[in-house]
Amino acid sequence: MPEYDYIVVGAGTAGCVLAARLSQHPAARVLLLEAGAAARTRAMTVPNAWPENLDSPANWADTTTPQADAGPVSYPRGRALGGSGAINAMAHVRGHRTVYDDWAAAGAAGWAFADLLPYFRRSETAAGRDPQLRGSAGPILVAPAADRHPVAEAFVAGLLAAGVPGTEDLSGARQEGVAWPDLAIADGVRVSPADGYLRPALGRPNLTVLTDCLVTGLGFSNGRCTGVSYLQHGHPAAAQTSGEVVLAAGAIGTPQLLMLSGIGPAGQLRQAGIEPLADLPEVGENLQDHPIAITSYSPAASLPVSKYNHGEACAAVRSPLAGGYPDLHLLPILLPLAPAGSEPGPAGGYALVASAVAPASRGAVRLAGPDPRRPPLIDPGFLREPEDLDRLAAGLLMIREVAAGRGFGQVRKAEVYPGPEVRGTAAIRRYIRRSVSSYYHPAGTCRMGADGTAVVDCSLRVQGVTGLRIADASVLPTLPNAHPNATVLAIAERAAELIGGPPD
Ligand SMILES: Cc1cc2nc3c(=O)[nH]c(=O)nc-3n(C[C@H](O)[C@H](O)[C@H](O)COP(=O)(O)OP(=O)(O)OC[C@H]3O[C@@H](n4cnc5c(N)ncnc54)[C@H](O)[C@@H]3O)c2cc1C
Repeated sequence: MPEYDYIVVGAGTAGCVLAARLSQHPAARVLLLEAGAAARTRAMTVPNAWPENLDSPANWADTTTPQADAGPVSYPRGRALGGSGAINAMAHVRGHRTVYDDWAAAGAAGWAFADLLPYFRRSETAAGRDPQLRGSAGPILVAPAADRHPVAEAFVAGLLAAGVPGTEDLSGARQEGVAWPDLAIADGVRVSPADGYLRPALGRPNLTVLTDCLVTGLGFSNGRCTGVSYLQHGHPAAAQTSGEVVLAAGAIGTPQLLMLSGIGPAGQLRQAGIEPLADLPEVGENLQDHPIAITSYSPAASLPVSKYNHGEACAAVRSPLAGGYPDLHLLPILLPLAPAGSEPGPAGGYALVASAVAPASRGAVRLAGPDPRRPPLIDPGFLREPEDLDRLAAGLLMIREVAAGRGFGQVRKAEVYPGPEVRGTAAIRRYIRRSVSSYYHPAGTCRMGADGTAVVDCSLRVQGVTGLRIADASVLPTLPNAHPNATVLAIAERAAELIGGPPD
C-alpha cells in the first residue's frame, strides 16, 4: 500500500490550499484525493457562465430535507478540483472582524481576527485595497467589478438614497454598508483555489493528486488514523500515512466521512448500522447556512448580461435584530430567478435577494445508512428560529422600498415575485416560508472549540483519536456574516502552518 506523510481528503477550497502548502516542503510526501474529475471546464473559467456548473457533474446536486413550508431545497456543492470554490459565485468577502473575535472569546484560542489576519492576507492579492488589511502577494487574485451592470448600479444608488452608508471594502476597515465587493476574477477569468494554489504545484514530485476517488472510510489502529480507503473509478483502493490524515471534504462531506468511519454520535451511528469508534455527539450537528428570500422583477428595457458573477454589488446591513455586526445581505442577482416551484422569472429579468447572514437557526447532517455512495440527510434548519424569518422579512421590506424608488424606474417594469398581491407582514412571512432557499454557505458541522463537546480542538485535531485533523468549512464555530470562501482559505492557510513540515 502506498504511504504518505499527509493524506488530504477533498480537493476543494481548503484541500487545494493544504496540498499546495504542505507539499512546499520537498521532503513531505502528500496525497490529495478528490471524488470529482480533474477537468477545468468553461463554466469553471468564464465568470458569467458559473450557473452552468450547477447542471454539470461538478455538482454533487444534493437536496435538503423539507425546509419551513418550502419542501426540499436544492443544495449544490462542488465536486471537482477546486470543489465548491471551482463552481461558486466568486464573491471574496471576509466576515465582520467581530465574528472571529467571538470565536476566540468562546474558547477558540488563536482564531481571533488579529490571529487570522496574516492568513487572510497570505491567501489573496487585492490590488488597490488597504495594504494593512488586505493581501498583495497571495495566490487568489481578486478585484471588484469594473464595468458595472445597470441594475447593480441602480440598486446601490437606491440603497444609498435610502440612507444605507457606502463602504469601499467589506473586507476592509469598515465592514458595513453597500459596496462593490471583491470577486475572484482576474483578466476576465475565474481564479479558483485549484487555479491559484493547486495547479501551480502539480509538477512537484512529492505531490500526488488522484481524482475520481471517493474516499469511503478512515483506517485506525489503536485509536490512531493510519490511512484511508477509497473507490477509484469505482474500484477499491487504499493508502496509508506515517503522519496525518487531514479532512477537507467540506461541511457536508467531512462529517459524513467521519460518521461512516465510526466517529460521531454513537447512538445514531448504531442506528445507521455502523459500529462506533469514538462517541463525538456534535459530529454533523451545528449545521449553519444563510437562508435567502427572493424578489424578482421584469425589466423596463432590454438589459445587458453581467460580465462578472451576476451579483457585482452587495450591502451588509442591520435588521432590528442585529447584534454586534450586520445580519443581512441585500444583493442583486442579475438572472431571471423565481422561487422553486414557481413559473420561471420573465426573460431578461433579475432578482433582488435578502439573506439572513447571522442566522440563529441550526440544523444537522446525518447518515442515511452505511453506504458511502448514498447522499447524507442534510437539514440546514432554515427558519427554525423565528427571528431568522423576522430578519428576512425586514430585508424584503428594504428591497421593496429601493425597487419602488424613482431611480429604479429605469430598470424595473414590475415585481413578479412575491407579486403585488403579497402585502402585509403575515402574507410576506407566508411567502418567505414557502420560498426560502440557500445562499449555498453550509458550515459548522465539526465545530472547533476548547470545550469537551467540540469536534476538533484549537489545533484542528479530532477529539478522541490521533493522527486526524479537519481543515475546512465544517470547523467554523459560527458562520461568518459573509460569503465563506475567503474565511475557508484563511483557515486552511493556518491549518497548513499548524501541521508544519514533514514529520520527524
Ligand atoms: C453554487 C455555490 C455558490 C457559492 N458562492 C460563493 C461565493 O460567491 N463566495 C463565497 O465565498 N462562497 C460561495 N460558496 C461557498 C464556498 O464555495 C464554500 O464555502 C467553500 O468552497 C467551502 O470550502 P471547503 O473546502 O470547506 O469545501 P469544498 O470546496 O466544497 O470542497 C470539498 C471537496 O471535497 C470533495 N469530497 C467530498 N467528499 C468526498 C469524499 N468522500 N471523497 C473524496 N472527495 C470528497 C468534494 O468533491 C469537494 O471537491 C458557494 C457555494 C456554492 C455551492
